[in-house]
This record gives sequence, structure tokens and C-alpha cells, in this order.
Amino acid sequence: MLWFLQLNLLPPYYRAAKIGSVKSIADNVETMIISDKSLAALYQTARENSLCVQLVDNFGHTSTFNGIGTGCYIDKLAPKNPGEFDYEEMKENILKNKDFEHNFLIDYGSEMIVYGRIVDAHLGRYVLLINAPVTPEKAGLELIQNQFVLMTILVLLFATIASIILAKKISAPFIVMTASAKKLAQRDFDVSFESKGISFTEFDDLTSSLNYATQELKKIEELRLDLIANVSHDIKTPLTMILAYSEMIQDFSKSNPKLLDEHLNVIIAEAKYLDKLVENMLELSMLQSGAITLNKVDFNLNELVLELMTLFLNQKDNVNFDYDAIYIVNADEVMIGQVITNFFSNAIKYAGDSQIDIKLSKLNGVVRLSVIDYGCGIEHEDIANVWDRYYRIDKNFHRDQEGSGLGLSIARGIILAHNSNYGVISEKEKGSEFYFDLNIIEIINW
Ligand code: ADP
Repeated sequence: MLWFLQLNLLPPYYRAAKIGSVKSIADNVETMIISDKSLAALYQTARENSLCVQLVDNFGHTSTFNGIGTGCYIDKLAPKNPGEFDYEEMKENILKNKDFEHNFLIDYGSEMIVYGRIVDAHLGRYVLLINAPVTPEKAGLELIQNQFVLMTILVLLFATIASIILAKKISAPFIVMTASAKKLAQRDFDVSFESKGISFTEFDDLTSSLNYATQELKKIEELRLDLIANVSHDIKTPLTMILAYSEMIQDFSKSNPKLLDEHLNVIIAEAKYLDKLVENMLELSMLQSGAITLNKVDFNLNELVLELMTLFLNQKDNVNFDYDAIYIVNADEVMIGQVITNFFSNAIKYAGDSQIDIKLSKLNGVVRLSVIDYGCGIEHEDIANVWDRYYRIDKNFHRDQEGSGLGLSIARGIILAHNSNYGVISEKEKGSEFYFDLNIIEIINW
């Protein structure tokens, strides 16, 4: 476009510039004449500007300063052919014009201008004529044209190389991202999206959003797999029991009220167990996949323990609550309640007739909640495993102890979600202490 415009606009531009320069040279010459300066310098001006200057005085004497050689048309004062430059006609036209100047354009193969004006000096009146070609030289035009072709080729070459390099640089991270996206589509949730080699804010935002989405998908996938595994593992046993006892009712016990009652109780117990189990599974899966969010508030830990103790009153009455102060903590109250409940119900299950102590004590800036029983205790080699999912020390099935092996795993999940410390101290046949710590917000001494 630039090339095309330049070549087409150059001749008219050159023409306008040339006419302008002719006029300013005429101004200079006029000043020289009026100030009676030597006109010898006019030869140089004529040569440098490729023009021809002529001065004709009142008596018809002519001085010519020719810088274009045979191209000077005003030398030939008498026209040979119609349309050629005619001095008399030019003079007439100049005098007719109120600014005493006139432009005469002739085309002798290449376009020429003859500019004329009247100059009034001390020694009399002159006609100043300046003749100059107004079309650029063919050779000059060709040179520019060739330069443009060369420049165009160079620019195209440079632009092609630059765009290939740029395209490669920009597309490289997209190629890496597409590969990661394909892996993600094939359920590989361990992929990560990286903005390799390119650092635009928008691109960084995109990769971090995709990484976040991948993490969330991973959590959901883990939750799903966990639930499927748990359901097939645990729900099958009680369901088989329910089915077996229902069939027994159908076949034997429907006419025997005592037996029927017994069988129905088993079915109810299994159904209750199932209900609790499903609830625990959901909770544990959500905790482990990180799909649960804590609702932390400041609350009175002592009050929470007292509330929970009253709930268990009908199951166990010899429970002591021992505390050295009232502790305000910041945690998810419902979840911490769940941990205490799990510790407490285990203590009830395994304490036998012995008493249970619940203790709150200050320890290096934290408050430690311990649930202590003096029951069967835990074998040394089992202690580390009790927090594991589905771990039950007594592998024999006791529905009366209706544990699923999930209670302590849930408790651990909740404590870890609070970034807190936990543990168990136990000795076989002596009893166990299960504890966890919470950061103290406020201590109210009493
Ligand atoms: P469960 O529902 O079987 O009680 P938990 O996860 O709560 O599951 O506990 C895991 C195992 O740890 C239990 O089966 C039990 O053997 C042991 N355990 C938990 N608490 C006590 C305790 N206070 N005394 C003795 N053993 C315990």
C-alpha cells in the first residue's frame, strides 16, 4: 500500500515542492536585485536547484543563468510552434495579474514550469523568469522504485521470520496446555497447567483457574471412589443380615410372636447401624477429600462438654468433668462436638463399669481435652492403628458395640482440619486416654 501510494504520489508531490521552491528562489533573486547585489551567485543557485533563471530589462537585454543546459526553454524567446513558451505573451500575462506574477506550464515530454514576475529595482524594471522541470527524473523514479521493491522484500522477509518466531513462542504454552487438557479429559487428575515461557496476567489467571478446577475435580473423584469402596465394603454385610432375617420371618417366625419380635429387633438394629454407617462414611469421605469447610466460631468449650455429657447421661452416669478454667476456643463447634462424642462413646463402650473422666487442662498455650476411661485399654501394638479407617481391635463382630471402625478416623480428620494435635495413651487392662488440643482464645479463671 505504502509502495503503491509512494510511487503514485511522488510526481504530484515533487511538482508541488518544485513550484514552491521556484517561488522562494524568485524571492531571493528579487531581494538580490533590489539590494543591488552581485548576481554571480545566481549561477550556483541555478545549478544546485536544476533551474534556469533569466532577467530581461526594459531595453530587452537578457541575462541568463542556466543550470539545466539545453533544457532551458526560456532561452528560446520566440516560439517556434503554437503552445510553446512565448516571452511576449508571458510578459503580458504577468502584467495583467495584480501580483505581477504568472505560472506557465509546458509539457515537452517532461513537464516544465516557467514562473515569471516583475521586479522593480533602482535601475529600472525587470522581468524575472525561472524555468524548472517539475517532473522527477526518470532515473530518480526508477531508483526509488527499485529501493521500494527491495525494501518490500526485506520487510516481508523480516515480518515472516518475526511472525514465525512469535507464533511459535505464543503457541508453545497453548500446546502444553492442550496436552494437559487432553489428559484431564481422560480422567488424569494429577495434571497441572503451566504458563511456560509466557507471562501474561490473563494467561496466568487461566492456568491457575484450570489448576484450581482440576484440584476440585480430583477431590470430587476421590470422594466418589471412596464412597463406592465404602458402600460395597460395609453396607453389604448388614444388608445381607436384613435380607436373611426378613426371609426367616417370611418362612418361620411370622406365626411365632416371640421369634418374630427377636428377628424384627435384629432387622431394626441392622437398619440403625446402616443409617449410622452411611452417615459416618459420608462425613469421613468429605473430610478426607477436603470437600468440607470449617465454620469456625468462638465458643465455650466447657459448656459444649457439659451439653454432650447430658446427652449420654442415660448410657453412663459415673462421668467426671474436671477443669482448671473456662476455655474459649475458636473452632467448628459442631465438628469438635463430634470428636468429643466419638471419644466419649468409645469410652462408654470400652470402659465397662469403670468411671469416665473428662478433663480440660492448659498446656503450652493450648487447652487439652482428654477423655479417660479405666476399661480394657489397648494393646501396645494396636495403639498406632486405632486411628485408621475400619480398624477394630476386636475383629469379632459385636453388634452391641456397634462400631464401624470409622469413629476415630473421623475424629482425626476433624482435628487435622483444625491443624491441631491429638493422641492416645493406653495400657492394656488399665484404660485409655484419648485427647486433642485447641488454641485458646480466652481463659476465664473461676
Ligand atoms: P469403633 O466404631 O469400632 O469404635 P473407632 O474408630 O471409634 O471405631 O475405634 C477403633 C478401634 O479402637 C475400636 O474398634 C477399638 O478397638 C479401639 N478403641 C477405641 N476407643 C477405645 C477405648 N476407649 N478403649 C479401648 N479401645 C478403644
